[in-house]
Amino acid sequence: MSKGRSEIRYNYLLDTWVIVAPERQNRPHDFSQSSQSENVDPSRCPFEPKALSQEVFALREEGAKPDEWRVKVIPNKYPVLRKETLPLEKGEDFYSAIEGFGVHEVVIDTPDHFKRVSDFSIGELKDLLSVYRERMRELYSDRRVKYVLVFKNYKREAGASIFHPHSQMIALPLVPTAIRKVIEQSRKYYLKVGRCYLCDELSFELKERKRVVYENTSFAVYCPFYSLFPFELRVMPKFHSCDFSKLNDEHLEGLADALLKALKKLYRALDDPPYNLYIHSSPPLFPQSELFFHWYIEIVPRLTVQGGLELGSGFYVNPVPPERAATTLSEVKL
Ligand SMILES: [Zn+2]
Ligand SMILES: [Zn+2]
Repeated sequence: MSKGRSEIRYNYLLDTWVIVAPERQNRPHDFSQSSQSENVDPSRCPFEPKALSQEVFALREEGAKPDEWRVKVIPNKYPVLRKETLPLEKGEDFYSAIEGFGVHEVVIDTPDHFKRVSDFSIGELKDLLSVYRERMRELYSDRRVKYVLVFKNYKREAGASIFHPHSQMIALPLVPTAIRKVIEQSRKYYLKVGRCYLCDELSFELKERKRVVYENTSFAVYCPFYSLFPFELRVMPKFHSCDFSKLNDEHLEGLADALLKALKKLYRALDDPPYNLYIHSSPPLFPQSELFFHWYIEIVPRLTVQGGLELGSGFYVNPVPPERAATTLSEVKL
């Protein structure tokens, strides 16, 4: 493969893709080995407003100086995929691989080095979500982009290499396996029942009320019946919608409220756990997905380590029943 550049290889047996990304090896880590993630020195932080020269997008007041912003997007210095790619080298005809085209951006959630997202105001979280929305729309305007994933790794145990609050966006040249699976299953249900699976699941949950953690007029937070991980949380619109990037400002506010409640509850109940967060939204060009795809945000606290059972069988062992997790989280007073 081209030296230093990514390649996306197909795993035939598992029907999935792997991004081989040698550039990622050079990535620095600002977490010191001894301290966990607390007290990381802002003077060594690459995301401090004054240290940042590159800018893909920024949210700032009118007339503000370049280093005054509320949310800023920069290119990832150690990208998993690149916009400029080199053609694949020939010689491995047995396998399928495509060149590592894509876009990998970092969203700096706040100029404040020490401000956790769970401590944001609703307005600050709405700003952040609006930046996700803007960048998603923009990245999808490139026809080569087939899927955009927005995600967040909070703390080193969840894969973060920089302490300063940040999220990531990755534009992919194909629809990832996890999304293809969700599309297939949702479409199957729609063809059989004539309704959206997640609309039905949510109305069952809101009736049953065993796993609901929080709801406002437009969004609900619940622990899925089939959660793979302890305290897994889903934040989902109560109205049918397949595309996060089409949310209007009013809904963004409802989402900010629900997401903030979910993060605050996790923070209090589990003493500031590491977590991953991602948005599953429909690929825009997927035929009829507006009928059966329902977008959602998943928050997965990283409390357990996956071992051979999970890798070897695909079976996950979740030691905390989602009903119990939901009860614990609902009882957290904010
Ligand atoms: Zn910082
Ligand atoms: Zn739906």
